[in-house]
Amino acid sequence: MRQPNSSPTHGRQPQEHENYPVHLIGRIQPHGVLMELHGAELHIVRVSQTIQNYLGASPADVLNQPLSAVLDPIALAAVQQSLSHDTNRPSHLTLSVSTPEGMKPFDGLIHQLNEQIILELEPVGDRSTAEMVALHDSVRQAIARLRQIQDVTTFLQAAVEEMQSLTGYDRVVIYQFDEKKAGSVVAEVKPFDDIAYKGLHYPATDIPKLVRQLYQRGMIRYVANLTAPQVELVAPDLPLPKAPLNLTLSTLRGVDSCCIEYHQNMGVMAFLVIALVKSEQLWGLMACHHRTEKYLAYPVRSACEILGQFVAAELVSKVNEEELGYFNRLKAIQSDFVTAIAGAEDFKEALIHPEPRLLDLVNAHGTAVCLDQDITLIGNTPTLDQVRALLDWSMTEIDQTVFHTDCLSNHYPAALAFKESGSGLLVLKISQLRRYLVLWFRPEILQTVNWAGDPRSSIHETQDGQVLLGPRTSFRQWQETVEATALPWKAAEIESAENLKNAIVGIVLNKADELAQINLELERRNQELDSFAYAASHDLKEPLRGIINFANIIIKRYGESLDEAGVRRLRTLVKLAQRMDTLVDTLLKFSRLGQADLHYRQTDLQVLVQKAIDVLLTGREGDDLEPQIDIPRPLPTVDCDQVLISEAFGNLLGNALKYTDKAQPLIEIGYLTPEEQRNKGWREISQDYPLGAVFYVKDDGIGIRERHFQNIFRLFKRLHEQESYGGGTGVGLTITKRIIERHGGCIWVESTFGEGATFYFTLLGGSDCFSQALAE
Ligand code: ADP
Repeated sequence: MRQPNSSPTHGRQPQEHENYPVHLIGRIQPHGVLMELHGAELHIVRVSQTIQNYLGASPADVLNQPLSAVLDPIALAAVQQSLSHDTNRPSHLTLSVSTPEGMKPFDGLIHQLNEQIILELEPVGDRSTAEMVALHDSVRQAIARLRQIQDVTTFLQAAVEEMQSLTGYDRVVIYQFDEKKAGSVVAEVKPFDDIAYKGLHYPATDIPKLVRQLYQRGMIRYVANLTAPQVELVAPDLPLPKAPLNLTLSTLRGVDSCCIEYHQNMGVMAFLVIALVKSEQLWGLMACHHRTEKYLAYPVRSACEILGQFVAAELVSKVNEEELGYFNRLKAIQSDFVTAIAGAEDFKEALIHPEPRLLDLVNAHGTAVCLDQDITLIGNTPTLDQVRALLDWSMTEIDQTVFHTDCLSNHYPAALAFKESGSGLLVLKISQLRRYLVLWFRPEILQTVNWAGDPRSSIHETQDGQVLLGPRTSFRQWQETVEATALPWKAAEIESAENLKNAIVGIVLNKADELAQINLELERRNQELDSFAYAASHDLKEPLRGIINFANIIIKRYGESLDEAGVRRLRTLVKLAQRMDTLVDTLLKFSRLGQADLHYRQTDLQVLVQKAIDVLLTGREGDDLEPQIDIPRPLPTVDCDQVLISEAFGNLLGNALKYTDKAQPLIEIGYLTPEEQRNKGWREISQDYPLGAVFYVKDDGIGIRERHFQNIFRLFKRLHEQESYGGGTGVGLTITKRIIERHGGCIWVESTFGEGATFYFTLLGGSDCFSQALAE
C-alpha cells in the first residue's frame, strides 16, 4: 500500500523495491534536528543541517564538540540517564536547549542502535497543561467507547473515527493484512467530497521488508510535510568518510521519492501510520492522511500510539471471540448433520437438504455430492462435465481423506476454465473404495471482493488517462496476484469436513452394528425354528404312519363290509396322509439343512452335474424324446459341499425339465467368469475365480412372470396346480436357495414369460449379492 516510507516499484524492480534500504536514506525531515553522538562524553559526530535553524549554530560549530556544548547540565544529565536504560526504542525527554532566543524546551528522542547513539530534537511550541489534560481525556473516552463494541467491523470503524477526532487528519483508514501479507482497506473515515478507498486491495510487495519489520515492532511513522525539502546529515570526512547512518529507529527519517510521489498522487501531503500488532504479528495498519502539511506534537503522536496499542490489544480478544463464535456455529452445523444423517432413511437427502447446510459447513459457495454415478450440484459450481472430470482426477490423484487448496489450477490446470466458481477446492473422500466424495468450491477472490462502489473507477487518474503511481496501480498488481485464487480454507473448516466424514462413518458403523445384532437374533430364532420344525415333523411322522397303516388295514380287513363310497373315502384318506408324509419329509429335510454342518471338498462340478443329469434322465425313461442338455465348456472345480450342491443342481435341472411344454426341451448349464460378468454389464461378484463364478441353468420352458421372481423361492410356493407339470411340493427352490446361502452365495432368476428361464447362483458374495451385481 506504499504507505509511509514504502516506495512503489516505480523505477525499481519489485524485488529491489521489496528489499529497498529505507533506513540508509541519509536525509531527515526538516521539522527537527538529528545528532549522532559518540563516546562517554557524547561527542557530536554527525548532525543535520537544521541545527542552524533551531539552535542557531552551524554544523561546523558543533561537530566533534561534546553534547554539553548545546545542552544545559540538567538536560545533559537527563540524556545520560536515559541512555543507561534500555534504549532499543526511542525514549522521550523534555529538554531545555540553548537557542539564539535563549533556553527553549524541545521534545528529545534518544535511542541507541548497536554503537550508534541518536538524539532527535523537535521544538515544543506552545503547549498548555490544559491541552495535555484534554488530550488524556480524549484518549480515555475513546478507549471507553471502543471497549463497549463487540463486533469487529463496527469496532474498527469506531477506531478510525476516534483516531480522526483525536488528530484531526482528513482521512483515517485501517488496512488489514491477509495470510499472504496482502492488505485491504476495512474501515475508513474520509472527507465527504473525496473518493473512498474502502474495499481496495494491495499486494504484499507494496511494503518493503524493512518497513514491515519496523511496523511489526510496533513503530509509528510520522511525516509532517512530504513537500518540505529534506535535510542532509553532515559529518567530517576525516579520518574516513562515514558510512550512511542507520535511521531505522529515527523519528525524523527522510522519505523515499517513490513514497512521496505515491502520496502526492493521492493528494496527500502529511501522514501518520500506527501499526496494529496482534499476537506479535502485524495484523494491520491505521493510516491517517492529510491534504495539507500537518504537524503533530509529540504528546499527540504518543497518545495515538497508545490508542493504536489499545485497538490491537482489543482486537485479540474480539477476533478470538469472533473466531470462537464461527467455530461454534460450524460445530452446531456438524451436530445438525449427525442428527439428520442418523435419523434419515436416505443418506443423500440428509446430506443435501436443506441446501445451504452443506455449504455453511465449510463456508463454501458451491458443492458437489458424488455417490457413485449419482452427482448432485448445489450453489455456484463448475458444470456437471467439469465436476465429473475433477472427480476422476480426485479419485486417482488424491490419497488423503481431506484435500484442500486455495489455487486449484496449481494442481489441476484444467481448473482455470472454471476459476470463477472453483478456484478453491476442498475434497472429502467418504470412502476409499467407493466413489463417495463431497467437493466444496470457492470462487476466485476477485469475484467476492466488496468493491464498495468499485474502487477501480474511483481512483485518481491523470487528465490524459495515464496510470499513476498510486492505489490504482497497486490494486491492479494485487489483482494479478490473486488470479485463480480463492480465500484459503480455515483450519476450523477443514476440521468440519473431517468431522462430517467421521459422523458418516460412525453412523454407518452403528447401523452395521445394529444390523449385525439383528442378524444374530435372527439366526438364533431361525435355529430355534429349525429345531422346532425338526422336532415337530419328526414327531408327526409316527402318528401319520399309524394313520396310513390303520387306514390300509381297514380297507384290507373290512373293505368288503363297507360300501363303495366308504372304501373310496378311506383311499383318499390314505392318499392325503401320504402326501402329508411327503410334506413332513421335506420339512424335515429343510430344517436339517439349517442345522447340519457343511462338508467342504474340492469338487469337480463337471462330474457332479453329469451325475445329476444321469439320475434325472434315468427317472424319465419311457418319455418320447431325450432332452438336449448342453454344457458349453467344462465346469470348474470348486470347494463346496458335494451332496448339497448336487441337490441344488438336481432341483434346478429337474425344474427345467418339468416346467416346459416342449417335446424336446433345450437346457444349458454353464458359468460366467468375473470378466464375463463385467462384460454383461454387472459388477463382478468377486475377482476370485473359479469361486467368484456365476453358475447358471437355462431352459426354454414356460418361463416365470417377473412378479414371481422372488415368490418362487418361498416354502411351499407353487405357481401351478398340484398335479400340473408333474406335480411338486413347492419346496425345491426353497431348499436350493438355502443350500446356496449356506455356502455364502445367492440365487436369482431371469426369465421372459413363455420363452424360458435362467437360474443364476454364486457360491460367495452374500445372500443378496445379485442386487449389487445387477445394480451396475
Ligand atoms: P416345485 O417342487 O413345485 O417344483 P419349486 O420350489 O422347485 O417347487 O418351484 C416353485 C415354483 O416355481 C414352481 O411351482 C414353478 O411354478 C416355478 N418354477 C420353478 N422352476 C421353474 C422353471 N424352470 N420354469 C418355470 N417355472 C419354474
